[in-house]
Amino acid sequence: MKIQKVSDGLYTIELGRVNVNLIATDDALVLIDTGSPGDETAIRTALVQLGHTPQDLTHIIVTHVHADHAGSLAALQTVSNAQTIMHPVDAALAQRGDAMRPLTPSPTLLGRILYRFIIEPTPHNIAPARIDMTVEDGDLIPVAGGLRVIHAPGHCAGQIALLWEARSVLFAADTALNIPNLGHHLAYEDFALGQRTAARLGEFSFDVACFGHGRPILGGADRAFRRKFQPKRRDDRPQVSEISGLR
Ligand SMILES: [Zn+2]
Ligand SMILES: [Zn+2]
Repeated sequence: MKIQKVSDGLYTIELGRVNVNLIATDDALVLIDTGSPGDETAIRTALVQLGHTPQDLTHIIVTHVHADHAGSLAALQTVSNAQTIMHPVDAALAQRGDAMRPLTPSPTLLGRILYRFIIEPTPHNIAPARIDMTVEDGDLIPVAGGLRVIHAPGHCAGQIALLWEARSVLFAADTALNIPNLGHHLAYEDFALGQRTAARLGEFSFDVACFGHGRPILGGADRAFRRKFQPKRRDDRPQVSEISGLR
């Protein structure tokens, strides 16, 4: 486990396979994602190193139901009274312990190779967890000055990204990876939808982006999303008259 301070009151806790993120403000202690099954011990250690205890958690927001993100939710609920929050589509799965809909590799060579080693062994079940509140696209979670919910399907139907507008931070979940650079995830339920989601994220304004996998982008993150994921605009291309020299 390794803690990276992203900025004041914002930490990425690297758990090896996956990251969780922690917002610590005067009025709230918000854990975003819970790691894989068994990661609760490392998360508790990280909280203690940062001067907190699991009992101090006010909210646990789970970006999507995959076992590397929702895997330790039930265990953390035994030591915390935090309010738990998910999108309703994935909350239904988390409550019955399902952690996976069918996935396919992203259509890149690296995606197909790594899929076999990283995605296929991911557990399909987690301990069933209680979800206290569900949130939809556009909702504002009233904590830490407000976390805007962006429904982000494609990788996972009930995935959400979160925009911390007051601090210009996007929590991108698994809409993209930043390993070693910004790119597509390895696996999707619907790749075309995932591409549209990643392109849509670039329409928001944010300086910093935190990911489920990979290191945070610490500046100009919205531009990085636009460069990587938005289709080239038509007016960026040379016009026919420019190419042929005709008017
Ligand atoms: Zn995932
Ligand atoms: Zn993941």
